[in-house]
Amino acid sequence: MTAGKRRSIYFDHSATTSVLPEVADAMRPYFSDKYGNASSLHSFGREARSSIERARASVASLLGCDPSEVFFTSSGTEADNLAISGVATYRGRSKGHIITTAIEHHAVLEPCERLRRLGFDLTLVPVSKDGIVDSGDVERAVRDDTVLISVMMANNEIGTIQPYKEVGSIAASHGIPFHTDAVQAIGKLPINVKADRVDLLSLSAHKFHGPKGVGALYVKKGTEIEPMIRGGGQERGLRSSTENVPGIVGLGVAAEIAKRDRERTCSKMKGLRDKLIEEIPRLVPRAYLNGHPTKRLVNNAHFRFDFIEGEGLILQLDLKGVAASTGSACSTGSPDPSHVLLAMGISHEQAHGSLRLTLGRDNTEEEVVYLLGVLPEVVSRLREISPFNESRPITQGEGGSRV
Ligand SMILES: *Cc1c(COP(=O)(O)O)cnc(C)c1O
Repeated sequence: MTAGKRRSIYFDHSATTSVLPEVADAMRPYFSDKYGNASSLHSFGREARSSIERARASVASLLGCDPSEVFFTSSGTEADNLAISGVATYRGRSKGHIITTAIEHHAVLEPCERLRRLGFDLTLVPVSKDGIVDSGDVERAVRDDTVLISVMMANNEIGTIQPYKEVGSIAASHGIPFHTDAVQAIGKLPINVKADRVDLLSLSAHKFHGPKGVGALYVKKGTEIEPMIRGGGQERGLRSSTENVPGIVGLGVAAEIAKRDRERTCSKMKGLRDKLIEEIPRLVPRAYLNGHPTKRLVNNAHFRFDFIEGEGLILQLDLKGVAASTGSACSTGSPDPSHVLLAMGISHEQAHGSLRLTLGRDNTEEEVVYLLGVLPEVVSRLREISPFNESRPITQGEGGSRV
C-alpha cells in the first residue's frame, strides 16, 4: 500500500521524547565497562559514585539549588509519590489537610486520594475554563492543619502554566511545604527553586530527552520528609536501592542540554505552536482550542472537535504518518473522559473529541504544514460517519476559539 517513503512525524512529546545521541553516548559505558555499584569502595564503585555526583550537580544547576538537595528516583511518578506521602506522613502523621488541584497528573492525585482514605482531608482546588488555578483559591483553602500544598508547574494535557510562583509565596508565608510537579516544565520554563519558593519539585528524564525510568525529587534543605522505599540507605536514606547509574548519567546530560538549549528550542517550538493554534480553527470547522491561549507551554496545542471521537482521529492521523494523542498518555485505553477537561467545564461529549499536539526540538515547519494539510480532510471524513453528527451540514466559519 505504501507509495514512496512513509512519513513519520512525532507530535507527542508530552508523552515521551527521544533520547538525544549525546545522552545515549554518555550512558553507554555504564552498561558495559563502568558497571560498578556506587556503594563499593574499589575503583569501579568510586567511578560510579563520581558519575552520579556529576549528574546531581547538573540537575542542581538546572534547578538553581544545592546538589545535596537533589534525590534520584525511578521516575516522575515515584518523585510525586515520595513528595506527597513522604511529607504528609512524616513521623507517622495520620491526619492533616492537603491542598492540590483538580488537574494534577494521576501521579499526584492518586497518592492524595490514598491519604484521604487513610484519614487526611483533601481540597482539590478548581480551575477556570482556561485551565488555570487561581492562587487566591489556594490561599483561601489553607487551614491551620494544612501539611502540604501541591500545584503543578504546567499541565501535561492542555499545557497551561499554573501560578506556581504565587503559590510558592503563599505557602512560604504560611510555613507550609510546597511541592510542584515540574515534569512538563523542564527545558521549557526558566526554573529557579529558590526564587520560586518551591520546597519540593519532581522531574522525569524521559520528558526532556533523557532515558525512561529515572527521575529526581528536589527537596529543600530542612524539609521534613519520610522515605517511602527503605533498604540500604542510598540517596542519604531518602530512597534506598542500588542507583540506576546509566539512567542517572543520562538524566544529568539531558539536564545540561535542557539548560543550554532552552531559549533556542523554545523560540522555535513557540513559532510552530502558534501556527497550529492559528490555523487549525481556521481550517477545520467547529474546532476549539483547549486551555489558555498564551499561558501555556511553548510546545502544546490542544483542541477539541465537535462530532469526533479522539481515538478515531488519532488512528486516522497515524495512518497518515502523524503521531499525536488525545490527551494524557497515562489514561489512554480508559473510556473515561479526561479529568482535566471535565474540571474546565467541558462536556463529556466534547471532552471525547480532543487532540493534543505536543512539539519537540526537532519538529519542522514542513511537518506542521503537512499536518495542516491532512487534518481537515481526516476530520471531515470522520464526521461523515460520526453517530454524534447532527443532520445539518457543518459549514466553514463556525470554528474559532471560544475558550
Ligand atoms: C509524565 C508525567 C509524570 C510521570 O512521569 P514518569 O517518569 O513517566 O513516571 C508525572 N507528572 C507529569 C505532569 C507528567 O507529564
